[in-house]
Amino acid sequence: MRFNVVLLACTMALSGCMIVRNPTPQELSALDDPPFEVQSKVAHLLPKAEAWYSETEIQLAPLGRSLTADEVRTAIELGVTEPEKVRVVVLDEFPMPKDEQLLAEAKKHGLGGWAEGGRSNGRVILLKPRVTHSPVVLRHELVHLAQQDRMGRTAFLRRYLIELEMMGYARSPLELEAYAKQGAR
Ligand SMILES: [Zn+2]
Repeated sequence: MRFNVVLLACTMALSGCMIVRNPTPQELSALDDPPFEVQSKVAHLLPKAEAWYSETEIQLAPLGRSLTADEVRTAIELGVTEPEKVRVVVLDEFPMPKDEQLLAEAKKHGLGGWAEGGRSNGRVILLKPRVTHSPVVLRHELVHLAQQDRMGRTAFLRRYLIELEMMGYARSPLELEAYAKQGAR
């Protein structure tokens, strides 16, 4: 079982837990040097994804609330560098990209579906009403903010697209980190 470690990750919105295999060392090193097809697909998607990401952040930020003092402490502990700039927006439906290719990719990976309970768009955290009081979902999204702060926004988005393409959502190391640090349900 050396390369087949079973890990339990609970999705933020589904009621159950899913069992996923940890990425193997080979898979992890492939993420650092993706095949040509993946590199070219991501190079094409990245500018569209980045534009949509920033546009949505600018539109939604004025509608959001700031973090509470407790949440600011959590954000700092998780590595968010400017927690005072974070905004939390509660929406029944999360925005989807207009670009057809980006929309198809987003849907393929579960964005816009019922199961999506939280999402981060830059410094804006989107929550569905049913998870508004869930510290776990908020922590999960704060981990993604910390990842962006650690890597830089463009590098984070590029890496996230590569991971989705090569590993899928459930086995993406950026997602696995967020699940590991989000705490118990
Ligand atoms: Zn996530």
